[in-house]
Amino acid sequence: MNDRIKMHTPLVEIDGDEMTRIIWAWVKEILLCPFIELKTEYFDLGLSERERTGDRVTTEAAEAIKEFGVGVKCATITPNEERVKEYGLSEMYKSPNGTIRAILDGTVFRAPILAKGIVPYIPTWEKPITIARHAYGDIYRNTECLAGAGDKAELVLTSPDGTEKRMLIHTFGESGGGNGGIVQGIHNTDASIASFARACMNYAIDTKQDLWFGAKDTISKTYERRFRDIFDEIFAAVYKEKFAEVGITYSYTLIDDAVARAIRSDGGFVWACRNYDGDVMSDMVATAFGSLAMMTSVLVSPQGYYEYEAAHGTVQRHFYKHAAGEPTSTNSVATVFAWTGALKKRAELDSLPDLAAFAEALERAVLDTIGSGVMTGDLYAISTLPDKRQAGTKEFLEAAAARL
Ligand code: NAP
Ligand code: MG
Repeated sequence: MNDRIKMHTPLVEIDGDEMTRIIWAWVKEILLCPFIELKTEYFDLGLSERERTGDRVTTEAAEAIKEFGVGVKCATITPNEERVKEYGLSEMYKSPNGTIRAILDGTVFRAPILAKGIVPYIPTWEKPITIARHAYGDIYRNTECLAGAGDKAELVLTSPDGTEKRMLIHTFGESGGGNGGIVQGIHNTDASIASFARACMNYAIDTKQDLWFGAKDTISKTYERRFRDIFDEIFAAVYKEKFAEVGITYSYTLIDDAVARAIRSDGGFVWACRNYDGDVMSDMVATAFGSLAMMTSVLVSPQGYYEYEAAHGTVQRHFYKHAAGEPTSTNSVATVFAWTGALKKRAELDSLPDLAAFAEALERAVLDTIGSGVMTGDLYAISTLPDKRQAGTKEFLEAAAARL
């Protein structure tokens, strides 16, 4: 065991809940520890540990990512009322991902993992499409209300010196009978848009893929236009030469045109999406590429901190089967790729070519296992391979290890 690959800086390892917690331990035992002297700073975000620490552990994990630079996270339960009862929680703790994202101020990039025999619904999509979603503002931080018949809705801006700027939104029709309606106020900030733009441009350079951005600036000539202008300014001032060096492009187009082009494309680009567009498009892209269990996700902060995870949740239904002693066939690919993504980033930052090569080899072993016809139930259901066989959760990991 002395010839195992060594690490310099520890990875921030963030453990989680349910089926993904089971998979987490198996991935380490079967695919990582036999080959690497794994060095991690371990944080347990399993719900019972969040309860024990009053959720302090979540903040500590995020702070550790700031200290060490790279983290890898298991899926975690975001408690709702049922979970509060199930785990006897003293509080309905907030989403750990939300807490971590707020501390790191990052952008989330989601990319599908392509495997032989798993054919996208859009057959021309030969390369992954990475969705970058702006995670601040717009309708997700809105103020809205119903308006009654005869109500006048105005936009009022009050400056620090007290001066007011008033704009009419709409005067609703008089006298009852369906003449009321709805009103909504939304905002965004230059700083948040700028940090989103920088995160997208850095990621495009990192992964050597073209960057697309779309908004509706023909209709919304100030609000939507502001996004376009900030992207343009930052690109011209900071990234234009770097993009040319790497041989990639940045292009802006109307959001509806971007959708049409994406469908016609062969993939292989980063699509920067406004908050709502990203919410909608990431579900479409995940589904079109085959399975939510084949999606990776990385949070990139403007300061250059990285947190890798699977895009799916804790796969609760499978966990209950596992806990009842029944066999499961849960897909571990996105969890494995979260680890390889984090190891590759660590290898890059610490100049450890052996570690990077191992991570690449592990990804290949996993994909070749699926390509050879051995896969979990979710993929078995959609694979076009003639000689396919469904493997159990652990059995799949062991098959990948044998290949490795
Ligand atoms: P989920 O865990 O993603 O699972 C939804 C369904 O998708 C599963 O029941 C399963 O379908 C299928 N699926 C997802 N991942 C799979 C995998 N790796 N292998 C095979 N099938 C997979 O979402 P959820 O059930 O809505 O949420 C469960 C818990 O996860 C919740 O407590 C939620 O708070 C949490 N969550 C955490 C994160 C995160 O930490 N990033 C993200 C989302 C949700 P079948 O049951 O039909 O096989
Ligand atoms: Mg969504």
